[in-house]
Amino acid sequence: MNIGILGGTFNPIHIGHLRAAQEVAEDIGIDKVLFVPSFMPPHKEMEEPVEAGKRLEMVHMAIESNPLFEASSFEVDKMGISYSINTIEFVRKNYKTTPYFILGMDAFNDISTWFEFKRLFSLSHFAVMSRPGSSRLPLSEVLGDLASSFRPGPRGYVNPEGCEIVYVEISNLDISSSIIRKLLKKRRSIKYLVPASVEDYIEKEGLYR
Ligand code: ATP
Ligand code: MG
Repeated sequence: MNIGILGGTFNPIHIGHLRAAQEVAEDIGIDKVLFVPSFMPPHKEMEEPVEAGKRLEMVHMAIESNPLFEASSFEVDKMGISYSINTIEFVRKNYKTTPYFILGMDAFNDISTWFEFKRLFSLSHFAVMSRPGSSRLPLSEVLGDLASSFRPGPRGYVNPEGCEIVYVEISNLDISSSIIRKLLKKRRSIKYLVPASVEDYIEKEGLYR
């Protein structure tokens, strides 16, 4: 069973996340995508701090109808700063498999700043999705010295531990949570950018005003 992990702030979840996860899962053969909202992201100052519980709630609403998707409260329950390494170790233990960590090119290009970033690449595969505004860089530019342990593989690169980096071209939807927060601040509609249930929840709770 192939497990994907899609981490993020999900502030809020939008159809860019959903369509991306669907396409990656179909493309590389992932049987379940775990959506894992962070409690507190290490790098981001949350301009619009929305309680973790509410961000998780919106994730639940958004993925409800899709049997391929599951929400995980692991990082929200753990509290404190959310490090992906902990989530990956949790998933490895729970599912007895090496997961695919799914992330956009913007996030991947920053990965050398992540906590214990070198160890991440011996514990997880990486599925890197195209994203408008971010281009694919040479691996040495992204991973530094660590790049030399990777060899070209069938779908990208592979290291001696058998951990892969797979690049996936997806439909490039130029949608971000930042854009959605900006629209809401200007009292503009976010219709069709998020599932209707999420739109209703944001309205009802008065979020991001
Ligand atoms: P923000 O604007 O607040 O950073 P975001 O839209 O980037 O929000 P995140 O929660 O930061 O959403 O993203 C979680 C993960 O999903 C990241 O790996 C990010 O690259 C990826 N992602 C988000 N939106 C898209 C998209 N439209 N296409 C491809 N990947 C995406
Ligand atoms: Mg982001």
